[in-house]
Order: sequence, then C-alpha cells, then structure tokens
Amino acid sequence: MRDLSRRDLLRATAVGAGAVAIPSMIAGSSAIAADGPGWPSDTKFPPAQLTGRIVRPQSPNYAEASLGWDELFVHYPLVIVFAQETQDVVNALTWARQHDVALRVRSGRHNLEGWSNVDNGIVIDVSELKDVHIDTAARTAKVGAGLTQSEAVTALGEHDFAVTTGTEGTVGLSGATLGGGLGFLTRYLGMACDNLIGAEIVVAAGADGAKVLQVDPWNHSDLLWALRGAGNGNFGIVTSLTYQVAPLTSVAYLQVTWPGLDNLHEVFEAWQHVAPFTDPRLGSQIEVHPTEILLFAVLAEGSEAEARKLLAPILSIGTPTVTVQIGNWGDVYADFQTPNEEDPANWKFFSQFTREPFPEKAISIVREFMENAPSPDSNFFTQAFGRGAQRQEPFGGAAFPHRDALFYSEPGAGWGTRGEPNSDDAITPIAQTWIAEFSQALRPYVDGAYVNVPNIGMAEWETAYWGRNFPRLRKIKAKYDPHNVFQYEQSIPPATL
Ligand SMILES: Cc1cc2nc3c(=O)[nH]c(=O)nc-3n(C[C@H](O)[C@H](O)[C@H](O)COP(=O)(O)OP(=O)(O)OC[C@H]3O[C@@H](n4cnc5c(N)ncnc54)[C@H](O)[C@@H]3O)c2cc1C
Repeated sequence: MRDLSRRDLLRATAVGAGAVAIPSMIAGSSAIAADGPGWPSDTKFPPAQLTGRIVRPQSPNYAEASLGWDELFVHYPLVIVFAQETQDVVNALTWARQHDVALRVRSGRHNLEGWSNVDNGIVIDVSELKDVHIDTAARTAKVGAGLTQSEAVTALGEHDFAVTTGTEGTVGLSGATLGGGLGFLTRYLGMACDNLIGAEIVVAAGADGAKVLQVDPWNHSDLLWALRGAGNGNFGIVTSLTYQVAPLTSVAYLQVTWPGLDNLHEVFEAWQHVAPFTDPRLGSQIEVHPTEILLFAVLAEGSEAEARKLLAPILSIGTPTVTVQIGNWGDVYADFQTPNEEDPANWKFFSQFTREPFPEKAISIVREFMENAPSPDSNFFTQAFGRGAQRQEPFGGAAFPHRDALFYSEPGAGWGTRGEPNSDDAITPIAQTWIAEFSQALRPYVDGAYVNVPNIGMAEWETAYWGRNFPRLRKIKAKYDPHNVFQYEQSIPPATL
C-alpha cells in the first residue's frame, strides 16, 4: 500500500475531486471504507448512524458504563458506543465529526486522569472487541483492542507464549501497549509496544468521515512507529493489535516482604545496583508502603534457586519473608491479581524515569514521604530497566524513548471507598499535595515521564514523555489527523506546515 503524504493529499485536492474515489461509494454506515488513498481534506461523507451497543444518559446502566477505574474523575458523556465490530467504530467517528461532538477513545478505562471519557461528548469504547487469533507457527497473535491484560496473558499462556504487559490484569492491553507498556517481562522481551508488529486503526478521513488502515512495518510504517509509545488517543482508534509473541513455558515468581521501613536504605541501594544489571530474564519491582517494603521478581524460564542467587545481595538484608511460585506465566499472573473492588476509589500518581542510582538523600526523601503518607494505600513503586531487551528498539523503531533508564518510578496514593462518589473527600487535597511535593522533592534525581501515567500540570510534558521524538510525532499527527480530531488535555498537536 502506498503511503500518501499530506503533500500528496493536497496535490490530489488540487487536481479536483474527480481524481480520487468518491467516498459515498465505499464509506458510510453500510460499508467499511477500505484502506485506500486518503481523501482530500474537504471531502464530505454521507450521514452516519451510530451502531453497536449504545448507552445514553437515560439508559439504566449509564453510570456503570461511564465510570472509569479511577473514581476521582466522573464524566457525563452524551453517548457511549460499545463497538461490536470495526464498522461501529467507523460509524461512531464519522457521526462524531458530522455532529461536531467531542470524542474520546476507551478500552480498559484505567486512564489515570480520566481522559478516556468526556462531558457532553461521545466515548468510543472498544472493550467488547475480544477476538484472539494465535498463529503458533509464525509466533504472532492478532487480538481485539478490547482485551484486558489478564485476558491477553491467559490466552497466550495457554500456548506457552507471552508478550510484555503491565502487572495489573484489568488494565486494557490497548492503553498499556500504545503508551509503552512496562512490566515484569520488560527486561526479557522489551516494552509491550516493542512486541507490537501491526494494528488495525480507524482514522479520520476527509472533512467529516473515517477510514480503516492496516498498519505494519511495510504499510504506514510511520504510524506503527508512532503507535509504539504515543498511540493513546492521538492518531485514531485502534481496533486490533498484532504482536510478535515469545515462547515462555515457566517462570519463578518471588514476593519478598520486609516489615517496617528500617531496611529501606539498604534494600533500595542493593536493588538499584543489582536489578537493572542482572540477567535480563529477571524483572523486578520494589513497592515501598507506609509500613513495609515489598520486592516482586519474575525470572523467565528459571528456577527458584537461580532467582534466589540473582537476588542474593537483596535477600540477605534483614530477615524478610519470601514466598515463591513456579509455574506457567498465565497462572502466576492470574494468582497475583487482586480484585478491583478491593482497591480504593481514588488514585493519584506521578511518573518519572531515573538514569543514575538514587543517592542516599533521594532514598531519605522516599522514606520521609512514605512515613507521612496520606493513606495506607500510598506507595512508592519502581520497575527495573537497565541492561535489558528494552534498550533495543524493534524493527522500524518506536516512539517510546526511555530506553536507557535505570528504573521507572512513581509515588502514588489511593484513598476513598469504591462506589461512593467523593467518599473521604477531605483526603483528596492532602493526597494531591503529597504527590506534588513528593515528586518535586525527587526532581533532581529523575529525568523524563511516562505517558501512560500522565503528569498533569507538568511543564514540557511533550519532551518528558517522548524526548526528541516529539517533532516527528507532530508531523505524523499532521499526516493522519490534520484536522486534530483526536485531542485531549495532553494530546499531540499536528505540526504546522
Ligand atoms: C492500577 C494500575 C496499574 C498500572 N500498572 C501499569 C504497569 O504495570 N505498567 C504499565 O506500563 N502501565 C501501568 N498502568 C498504566 C496503564 O498502562 C495506563 O493507565 C493505560 O493507558 C490504561 O489503558 P486502558 O485501556 O485501561 O485505559 P483507557 O482509559 O481506556 O485508555 C487509556 C488511554 O489510551 C487511549 N486508548 C485506549 N484504547 C485505545 C485504542 N484502542 N486506540 C487508541 N487509543 C486508545 C485512551 O483514549 C486513553 O488516552 C497502570 C494503571 C493503573 C490504573
């Protein structure tokens, strides 16, 4: 498929509408617009109707259909379309454009600023697109954009395959992958987005329409590059994802607990000098809670003895409790999930990457803030990067830039009771201030941020998320979404010509 540049589009416009296909012949409510040439940007499409499972404010299940995982953010959309097939997405996008209605894209509902929902607009929800096709010979998996991470890990685990995902099963595979996707397998298999080799995506077309593109390393390769780390709600609505999957038959999973924070300096110091530099099969994360320190580690294709040996400098500190599980990754992953209902209602995080080990002073900051945490569900989370597969970009490259980080980290706070909007309201400003002051105190020791854990109010978030890739992302945005149809608080603006 020829990749039409914006210049080509303008040229096509200049020779007149007769030079290109007439959209009414191939688009609209009844047929999917094929992956054809781009329409001149002033082309009008036939009126579209909404299709799929449609929820409106008067529907009995509206509140549940609208609410995201982070109940700090409540929105009142005009309509929510739960797409049942790609054509529903084409229709919804066309309808939104023709009615000049704000739109948001949604899959697993875990956006941490509530940006996958919008007041008085349309939410195009792909969470019911659940197809899974695994080609065991080619080691590829094409999955619907509605899978949760748990569903994806389980489906692949049944065939002894894996891709990188984050650790929380109910998070959408789409949202996690399109923003990067880091987890226990990052050092072994790269970022989730590095495993992505193709996608089906519905993009804006012409003045008020939509079309479907099939994206892979040879077709719309610039868009694939952008979807690998900057694809969340910026370019179009991804309806399926194709991954290169890796064989993974067994893992050793360790959970290590130190009561209190007295061992924090030693544990953190040992972890940051071991975890980023050890065998790339070993992924690990530290969680510092107000009353305990937790280390979680996954060794791919390894034994308990091997895992203990690799972690020995950390395990030798104090007298931690260690639990171990050996098994299929899908089973292990399912076992460490906790039900969402047990989570606090409201959450706030601040993301940051670190390139040099934390000095003693930074670890003291972590201890000081955790001792004064606003709620028992506050924590300081880290994930090891360092010498792992994530250093290497996939074939065709990726927009995700933080390849040389030593580790990722985030202070986070959770509070309030689920299902009781505005519960424990008094904690909200305290938690928000705590996060802001905590992340500010760590600023001298961090560099860069993670778009999947957006930092609202951050100056120069564009370069914090994407570094020097940002100008290229703006050009790709201008090519695939010149009218800036896909926009939200921190979306990528199109480059100006
Ligand atoms: C409890 C929790 C744990 C987490 N743990 C991790 C972790 O271990 N590792 C990690 O990397 N991240 C982690 N995250 C962050 C997570 O990756 C992001 O919140 C992710 O964007 C959520 O995706 P979603 O589909 O669930 O959310 P949604 O709210 O549905 O979407 C998130 C964003 O992606 C866009 N989007 C969703 N689907 C599509 C689509 N099909 N096409 C185009 N755009 C789309 C939305 O518009 C929105 O901007 C965690 C988040 C939470 C809340």
